[in-house]
Amino acid sequence: MTTPITPDILTVPRKEQPSDKVNLVGLTRDALRAALIDAGTPEKQAKMRTNQLWQWIYQKGVRDFADMTNLAKDYRAKLDRNFEIRIPEVVTKQVSEDGTRKYLVRIAGGHEVEIVYIPEEDRGTLCVSSQVGCTLTCSFCHTGTQKLVRNLTAGEIVGQIMLARDDLDDWVRAGEGMGERPRLVSNIVLMGMGEPLYNFDNVRDAMKIAMDGEGISLSRRRITLSTCGVVPGIARTGDEIGCQLAISFHATTDEVRDVLVPVNRRWNIEALLAALRAYPRLSNSERVTFEYVMLAGVNDSDEDARRLVKLIEGIPAKINLIPFNEWPGAPYKRSSNNRIRAFAQIIYDAGYATPIRTPRGEDIMAACGQLKSATERARKSRREIEAEAGLG
Ligand code: SAH
Repeated sequence: MTTPITPDILTVPRKEQPSDKVNLVGLTRDALRAALIDAGTPEKQAKMRTNQLWQWIYQKGVRDFADMTNLAKDYRAKLDRNFEIRIPEVVTKQVSEDGTRKYLVRIAGGHEVEIVYIPEEDRGTLCVSSQVGCTLTCSFCHTGTQKLVRNLTAGEIVGQIMLARDDLDDWVRAGEGMGERPRLVSNIVLMGMGEPLYNFDNVRDAMKIAMDGEGISLSRRRITLSTCGVVPGIARTGDEIGCQLAISFHATTDEVRDVLVPVNRRWNIEALLAALRAYPRLSNSERVTFEYVMLAGVNDSDEDARRLVKLIEGIPAKINLIPFNEWPGAPYKRSSNNRIRAFAQIIYDAGYATPIRTPRGEDIMAACGQLKSATERARKSRREIEAEAGLG
């Protein structure tokens, strides 16, 4: 798999886009069908038209109704009068030395979120955002220091996948079969900005669209939702989405977890583990990922590792160790490599896979916990620079 070569930074001019048309992106199949009937599509034809539109939008990546050649011309015109196919607008794109791509996109209201594409040998993972900002206030996460602005709509969430497919030329081409070429965006992780389980309905609708076999067609095994531990949302994820689960665990006592992941005061370690034990379909081939950020002197002792192993006993799991990505003013330091390796060894010896997450795209501030903050910081320093120059 190779990703197309592009300039390191691309700035796309912003266009104004006021519109009173209904955006079809993000509508569930049922909602799309209802919208088509509302716009005058005869009920008898509605199912077939839904299928046709679905394939154009989610399999071929078509944005213009005029290109939908299996629909009658006047029907295409009718669609165009009522609807649009709109995805978030790319403001800047950066490509890291390691091939990681970061997109800053603008959504309605002028808000911005970031999306990261991480190419690896056997897969390409897209890290998708679910909210503008975050309400969690995890003390080690830079995104957590920013105020929540709003939840993303289902269209804005699935639209992130669509814009990555645009950029990577990753749509099914005319005359090409669906499985003919491996997809460059082969995996989705809901690990960008925001807490997906605080925006459950929109995340669910977007992932249902992403998993639909007639469209984007990603298997539920290739989608991982990461949560800080919103317990009621975990069972719903199992029932209503069925994707893989990652938990931002990060500590082995409630005392420490209360500080690192404050939502622990609402749902403590015991409640969280009970929800995981009840998660459907867990097995050796479908394991929960425990994310564990390595903070020097805070949560990285041998004792922590042994406690972790005890806590998760009986849960099919893998432990993903994340070396802390520092940010200016952060109250923590990254654990040393030796400490991380020693910690990993204890967990590995207990029979768990313990991959250490290599920071990707650090040079473009695309690593875990750095999202959006980079842009905010750039903006701030520009203001500072202006002030210093007497322009502010
Ligand atoms: N709100 C969800 C989704 C965010 S996923 C969640 O909490 O799971 C982003 C992952 O990166 C989380 O595991 C988060 O705890 C971790 N993270 C945040 N800041 C980090 C940092 N500075 N260094 C390393 N990992 C960080």
